[in-house]
Amino acid sequence: MAAPALIRPVLVAELLADGERMPVVVHVVEHPDARVLVDTGLTRLHPAAADLDPRLVPGWQDEVGVDSIDLVVNTHLHFDHCGGNHLFTGRPVHVQRRELDDVRSGAVPTVREWVQAPGVEYVPVDGELEVLPGLRLLPAPGHTPGSQVVVVETGGRPQVVCGDTAVFSGELDDPRSEGQRLVRGLDPELVWLSHELQPWRPPV
Ligand SMILES: [Zn+2]
Repeated sequence: MAAPALIRPVLVAELLADGERMPVVVHVVEHPDARVLVDTGLTRLHPAAADLDPRLVPGWQDEVGVDSIDLVVNTHLHFDHCGGNHLFTGRPVHVQRRELDDVRSGAVPTVREWVQAPGVEYVPVDGELEVLPGLRLLPAPGHTPGSQVVVVETGGRPQVVCGDTAVFSGELDDPRSEGQRLVRGLDPELVWLSHELQPWRPPV
């Protein structure tokens, strides 16, 4: 049997939220069949994001190994999750069709030129999709209506890369949105968040 997938967080930036620095983390999934990147952080500044005073972490692209990533997943398309999409031309970028539509209509605010960067090839996903054996995308409405999470089989209970379905770990202790309840219902071993360095673990 192939080795189970491994998930590795990489810090790419920090934002200022409510006077505190908040990490922006992307996740590399080392799957036996492919190297997968979940969300692409940000690579430059933009006036639309100035309120959050982004500080970029230099060299994160090397830590991720951009050239050897085979496929990309966007949990959603807020600017701090798709700002590096332009680095992955020629690789499929999986996102829920609902999220793409909502960006196009303006219902989900973001930096549109980062979403629509030249050469980015989206694979619009309608609902659940098994992208690779043991690596599934599941719609998880809440943070945005078109948000999705990535469920990774790692041998025991699954691990979940949840994007902003929970922005803070504590939200998963008391799930409120449909997406948060879905994540809890998966009985995950660990849940990786975009704005926490350590994964959430369910209470024992
Ligand atoms: Zn975010």
